[in-house]
Amino acid sequence: MSELNQNRASACRVCGAHLTAFMSFGRMPIANGFLKSEEIQSEYFFELAPAFCEPCGMFQLVEQPSPDKMFHGRYAFYSSTSRYMQVHFERFAQSVINGVLAGRADPFVVELGSNDGIMLRNFHACGVRHLGVEPSVNVAEVARGCGINTISAFFGRKLASHIEAEHGHADAILAANVMCHIPDLPGVADGVRRLLRPDGVFVFEDPYLGDMIAKTSYDQIYDEHVFIFSATSVKNAFAPHGLELVDVAPQKTHGGSMRYTLAPMDSRPATSAVDECLAREREQGLGRSETYVRFKQSCEASRARLMEMLNSLRREGRRVVGYGATSKSTTVTNYCGITPEHVEFISDTTPIKQGKLSPGAHIPVRPYDEFVRAFPDYALLFAWNHSDEIREKEQSFVAGGGRWIVYVPEVKVVS
Ligand SMILES: [Zn+2]
Repeated sequence: MSELNQNRASACRVCGAHLTAFMSFGRMPIANGFLKSEEIQSEYFFELAPAFCEPCGMFQLVEQPSPDKMFHGRYAFYSSTSRYMQVHFERFAQSVINGVLAGRADPFVVELGSNDGIMLRNFHACGVRHLGVEPSVNVAEVARGCGINTISAFFGRKLASHIEAEHGHADAILAANVMCHIPDLPGVADGVRRLLRPDGVFVFEDPYLGDMIAKTSYDQIYDEHVFIFSATSVKNAFAPHGLELVDVAPQKTHGGSMRYTLAPMDSRPATSAVDECLAREREQGLGRSETYVRFKQSCEASRARLMEMLNSLRREGRRVVGYGATSKSTTVTNYCGITPEHVEFISDTTPIKQGKLSPGAHIPVRPYDEFVRAFPDYALLFAWNHSDEIREKEQSFVAGGGRWIVYVPEVKVVS
């Protein structure tokens, strides 16, 4: 199953070079496609296969389901439900306000994929002119209700010209966990360049390829993440559109992210962090195909160890429950072959997921109360990127003898 269609090929979305998948995670459902039992018959699957483009260095999916498949019946995701993310975006916004916007008269900030206004509310509070671009109508409505100027549209060359005509050029364009979702990267890059002032900046952050390779966190790879960026690939992708990478800053969010700052070519000097990061990526071998062959082997080894552990616990009659019905967990359960025989249910606090089945693996998703009511022997930590907060919160689980199973950066049992 995991080896099907190994020679699937297409063209790089950034440079157009011939692209071949270096591995396949097999038949995969939509990561966020939590479903009712009567929907199993019509569940959609595609082949999840990543490729690395050697000429431009871009890590990408060979095949991505069409947006109507990915977002069909999708529940609205509201960023602001996480306190941790609220603080993160408050700091992100402050760094822009105290950085590029400092001393500017009547600056204008645009955010791509502005969600419920979790970042822009900080600009709104300071009286900064702003505009959010949020394709999801329901989510944009929530932002507007809080006084955040938001339009529901997809960003590209056309919308950039439209915004510029109405509001003028932007001092800063921002995006968080959005750029890696957009297949037409050249179209967005052109739009950004068109909308940006000559002394403006484009700042975006996304999960970082260097972390994913170092930690074997292959669960970053799912339908919505069409790209996993590195400083090298970002530099190469934006240069043809007149944008230069001038700063990078690692972030802890999403299990390891990178914040990239781009500016019109030759408009400002690059910080030393850029060259240092590019050098680290060369050392790590992020530009070499062998690195991805090794990554494939690491994924296979991780899967083998996890299944050995789950099968052994099952033979011993231990209760194992999943913690966090994340999008990322869909890649893990389907690639590894985890079934309800291994994991009794997945505990999740999101009401709309509760009572449904996990995509592909069909593991029941149940309310958090059920985890607390009868602690299992083991909890498989699908939300590993929030490990510190969760383990802090669940001290009584461990005090009662419960153990965590983690699989990033390696498969192990921890208390
Ligand atoms: Zn390419």
